[in-house]
Amino acid sequence: MASLPLWIWVAMLLSMLLPNVHAGHPTWETARFSTPDWISIRPWEADTHLWPDAILPFCFDSDANFEKYRPRIESAFDLWYAAGLPNKLRFRYPTQEACEEYPYVTILVRDTPSMMTATTGVSVPTVGDDGYIPAAGPPTMYVSVEEQDTWEDNIRKIAHLIGHLFGLHHEHQTPSFWNPNTRDSRQFDFWCEYLADFEKKTKQLTYEERWGTVGICQDRTAAILSGFSAANFLPLEANTYFTDAQWWSTPDWNSIMIYSSYVGGAPDRQVLQKANGGIINTNYVPSAKDVAGLKFLYTTGIYENPLSPFFNNPLSPYYGTFRMYNGCNE
Ligand SMILES: [Zn+2]
Repeated sequence: MASLPLWIWVAMLLSMLLPNVHAGHPTWETARFSTPDWISIRPWEADTHLWPDAILPFCFDSDANFEKYRPRIESAFDLWYAAGLPNKLRFRYPTQEACEEYPYVTILVRDTPSMMTATTGVSVPTVGDDGYIPAAGPPTMYVSVEEQDTWEDNIRKIAHLIGHLFGLHHEHQTPSFWNPNTRDSRQFDFWCEYLADFEKKTKQLTYEERWGTVGICQDRTAAILSGFSAANFLPLEANTYFTDAQWWSTPDWNSIMIYSSYVGGAPDRQVLQKANGGIINTNYVPSAKDVAGLKFLYTTGIYENPLSPFFNNPLSPYYGTFRMYNGCNE
């Protein structure tokens, strides 16, 4: 190590201290610096606001579901707090009257079989196991407890949804991890053909419609329009996200917002692998970088919206764009 020229060490040090420097020296191409990366909504856009006062207001579609999900939501929040999330980011349970009066500024928790999906101001589609896309409506968190789920499984899924609700996107959909205009990735192997809904969604399609540059295995917009779960894997479209990840960043393999290799796949199929073929493990707790992202969004004071909560009021001119969905088939 000591044989490395001094300038390389200086360059490496500078790259860590100055994360916005876009250096292209070939020596750096092989280096892999770990930067504090995360990816989120664009909080300055009209249709992608943060939750007012950093509070998620949960309402429930029945008393039974309140009893069922309250301890799960609280345990999931505890995972975030244990990972370092500031107490400023929190949840509350509005009164039944408030829930009924203000459905567009609260989150309705609905017990829905086979669905783990949350809505926010994020422009991400909801794709369930069967490609089901719920009609646009008030913010909702669709949750379920699957027979095979342990308590830990269920809590980590809800913790993942809390990440979405606050504004985080999937770590693996960070565009800098992918090559432009292709499903090939610098960091991942994405096996579209192993997705559980691949056969159903592609049997009527031509080769080009599957694998072409605007095919549903390559182009996220095409996947969204087909209700195809590849939409939860392919890189996000330009100008729809906010991240401090750089071209040299590596994925945060510990993120609760990254899919493990078996998410979304047909039985025993690995849809998403590391580029070297390695398995992406299931993460049961939020990572330090997940927390860093939410801290940046909610505690720096940069992105507070003076108009909130009117953006998600049906009378607001922004309402039409606000009611976009964020979700996943976790
Ligand atoms: Zn998700």
